[in-house]
Amino acid sequence: MDRKEFLATTFSAGLGLALVPSLLSCVTPMKRSMFDPLTLRAGDLRKIRGNVSRYTNKGGTVGVFEAKDGFLIIDSQFADSIQPVLDGISSKGKPVLYLCNTHHHGDHTSGNIAFKDQNTKVVAHQRVPELQRMAAEKSKKLAEQRYATVLFEKEYRIDLGNEKVTGYHFGNGHTFGDVMYHFENDNVVHMGDLMFNNMIPVYRTADGSDSRSWIKVLEKAQAKFDDDTVFIFGHADKPELTTGNRANLKEMAGFLEASNDFMLKAISEGKSTEQLVKENAFIPGFENRNTPERFAGFLDELRKTLLG
Ligand SMILES: [Zn+2]
Repeated sequence: MDRKEFLATTFSAGLGLALVPSLLSCVTPMKRSMFDPLTLRAGDLRKIRGNVSRYTNKGGTVGVFEAKDGFLIIDSQFADSIQPVLDGISSKGKPVLYLCNTHHHGDHTSGNIAFKDQNTKVVAHQRVPELQRMAAEKSKKLAEQRYATVLFEKEYRIDLGNEKVTGYHFGNGHTFGDVMYHFENDNVVHMGDLMFNNMIPVYRTADGSDSRSWIKVLEKAQAKFDDDTVFIFGHADKPELTTGNRANLKEMAGFLEASNDFMLKAISEGKSTEQLVKENAFIPGFENRNTPERFAGFLDELRKTLLG
């Protein structure tokens, strides 16, 4: 029985007046609006909390946030894999008010161009357009980009009436332009690729990856948010692991610390990456982060950070 039916039944049953005040309070409009879920023809959309959902298909996890007047989307994967989300949104007759990028990597920004509405504000850290352009030049995809035009250095607050979304840049970790976005009412944070769950992260010093600074960024996030916060992760080995809590951030920071220790020891012992990979399939203590195709490259790049 839905609420309307319940009220009709209750009133027709002629229940006492004493019940009326509590019934009235339960039909008083809530401070925040909730909306019917989107239905998508492809990909995997899961509600996280309140008006925040996450979408996985191909590339980085997308954050989907619905407000009264339109949507705010975090990251855009690729033009083809984000299209089901855009189709679902247009069938609701609402615009995308904001597209927020967590960083410049192609699996998070290639779909920006699928957002055809020129009124959509594209938000990112100030380093993102330059890094995105350089990467697009290399991959010969310059004509397929849409760049952020609302740029910021440390913090940017978006006010959508009852809803507030704040982007934070706590320093570089995965790239020079990492931003995490906090949905304040729902207390959900999209971490972008500052969080890889159960995997070796993508780590490229040329893009700004810095394990020591990354640990500090994760510590700042743990201090800023609380035990109730739900975090969305850029990548995980399974779609159901693309969300988690503060303990996951701690685990990721612990992994980076262990990786630094592992590499510093290897450097002091004069061990090559080849030797290390022969002796180890993963960073000791982090068997859950066993990504063989990425391990050697990760170690090579980590060595650059620690020698630099
Ligand atoms: Zn990335």
